[in-house]
Amino acid sequence: MICPVCKYDMLVVEYHDIELDYCNSCKGVWFDTGELELLLKSHGLEETKIFLDGILNSQETTSSEKKRNCPVCDQKMKKKSLGAQPEILIDMCRDKHGLWFDGGEVAQLIRRLAEEHPSKRDSKEQVISFLEEVFEAPD
Ligand SMILES: [Zn+2]
Ligand SMILES: [Zn+2]
Repeated sequence: MICPVCKYDMLVVEYHDIELDYCNSCKGVWFDTGELELLLKSHGLEETKIFLDGILNSQETTSSEKKRNCPVCDQKMKKKSLGAQPEILIDMCRDKHGLWFDGGEVAQLIRRLAEEHPSKRDSKEQVISFLEEVFEAPD
């Protein structure tokens, strides 16, 4: 698969039963539909499904960030906002092929999820250390 941002070939990263596509150049990550949920589930963060569904069903966000094309079908993706401070803007394929996170955004998402579910702090640490290992997420 080709990175929607810089057009380099992405690397396939396998983790548990999940395959992620990772761009070594811009550090962005592509999750096929369902893979993000699987990643969270494998760390006991399954109640986050409601949170994720809320994002996926939310209105498209207007943003000055450049539109990106889905690496599967090459259509322009929708921008979805995951809330403020700092705002995380992800790209979602209209045909539900998957989600694109810019470098570091996955780690920000996990942190935010864990703040909403303090009992899952250990799971959060595991997911974050995995992400930092694989994706070199900034702080
Ligand atoms: Zn890239
Ligand atoms: Zn698509």
